[in-house]
Amino acid sequence: MPDDLLSIPNDLRHLRACLLCSLIKSFEQFEFDGCDNCEEFLGLKNNRELVYDCTSNNFDGMIALTNPEDSWVAKWQKINRKCIGMYAISVSGRLPLGVIRELKSRGVVYRSRDRSTNI
Ligand SMILES: [Zn+2]
Repeated sequence: MPDDLLSIPNDLRHLRACLLCSLIKSFEQFEFDGCDNCEEFLGLKNNRELVYDCTSNNFDGMIALTNPEDSWVAKWQKINRKCIGMYAISVSGRLPLGVIRELKSRGVVYRSRDRSTNI
């Protein structure tokens, strides 16, 4: 598989969405590769526990992001600077407090991706 397709789910079972950027991949992909956008901050690679904590299997809607710079949908979803892949429109759940604090200390503001309560 070419490198730029690695962020696309390779398995429709066990799909999870990243709570920080809403990227959708299979559990295994998150475990083996981490999140393509947030790995620098979340460090999900080889850490099953963190994958469980920082991704959610409860999400709604899917957007295929193929041209992040041009897509108005991507701008609206605030994912126009993210990697190519599948993204959830709404992700239920929140990052653990410890992770949110860690992000804050590194200058990343966490906004919940849960649109069912935050609209
Ligand atoms: Zn992410």
